[in-house]
Amino acid sequence: MTTPGQHRETHNLDATNSGNHTLPRLGISQCLLGDQVRYDGGHKRDPFLTTTLSPCVEWVPVCPEVEAGLGTPREAMRLVGTPDTPKLVTIKTKNDHTALMQRFSAKKIRELSLLRLDGFIFKKNSPSCGIQRVRLYNQNGIPSSNGVGLFAQAFQQSLPAIPIEDEGRLHDSAIRENFIERVFCSHRWNTLSEQVITKGAIVQFHTHHKYLLLAHSRPHYQELGHLVASAQSYTPKQLAFAYRTIFMEALKVKATVRKHVNVLQHLLGHLKKQLSRVEKQELQEVILDYHRKLTPLAVPLTLMSHYVRVFDIPYLADQVYLHPHPKELMLRNHV
Ligand code: SF4
Repeated sequence: MTTPGQHRETHNLDATNSGNHTLPRLGISQCLLGDQVRYDGGHKRDPFLTTTLSPCVEWVPVCPEVEAGLGTPREAMRLVGTPDTPKLVTIKTKNDHTALMQRFSAKKIRELSLLRLDGFIFKKNSPSCGIQRVRLYNQNGIPSSNGVGLFAQAFQQSLPAIPIEDEGRLHDSAIRENFIERVFCSHRWNTLSEQVITKGAIVQFHTHHKYLLLAHSRPHYQELGHLVASAQSYTPKQLAFAYRTIFMEALKVKATVRKHVNVLQHLLGHLKKQLSRVEKQELQEVILDYHRKLTPLAVPLTLMSHYVRVFDIPYLADQVYLHPHPKELMLRNHV
């Protein structure tokens, strides 16, 4: 268990460390880890991130305001101007730190791009770190919720394929589940691409992610299938780039109950010969309960995984859909 100011692992942005990593690597607004880097010398430790998620990931903490040289404590700042040209300005003394933050962001994001991050969790509402709905004051001092923190905006523009969320949105079970799934998918892909990537390896990756992709987007799954089928038209590098782009796009599409039910029925189809009539009926019943929102997805999946193990069906055992992230994260447990 972590306490404020202590977190399992940090990363020093040395580009030589960008090679093999066994856990997903996540950038994070540093105050969320309990480090006292906020303008008032405090922190915003997030219990889920520092206790539940922390053992499953490697953190790369970033505090843009401290690292840009503004120190702690410092005068509070806010965004001023228009959504297209927001400025980062101190509230009392009206010092404009926009250029400083832009220079810092460009340099830091170049460093981060070498680390193959699998995601980034930003602090909500911050004029530097907020990814959406940050308060933006017009010239008359009237606030709207149209702002994006300067560092967060530069990050999204430079590294659009990296999954991002803020800690506030992660309190929503469905958003949390989707984000973590994308992080672990990115990690599996990055792990694969750290080896000599071959067309065969991409085909295998695609096969293992079939049902996970179908739970998000059948059109993307089909597009990836066409891409893999025409692999001979591309170099492995071109194929890998195209595959990753569409793959990560697919995972952004929301997985719905209806799509999960469809996937579960397909999986059940693979077990038809092995299961007795009673077992099939029992599995159908838990799928129906899930469909009616009486039980979480974890219930039919646990039963399904049990039969896959008992009957030793390698094609299904290899499906990432059955185990997309560590059990300890207790996802897929909401209705
Ligand atoms: S929100 Fe961002 S800039 Fe502000 S203290 Fe946290 S990490 Fe630093």
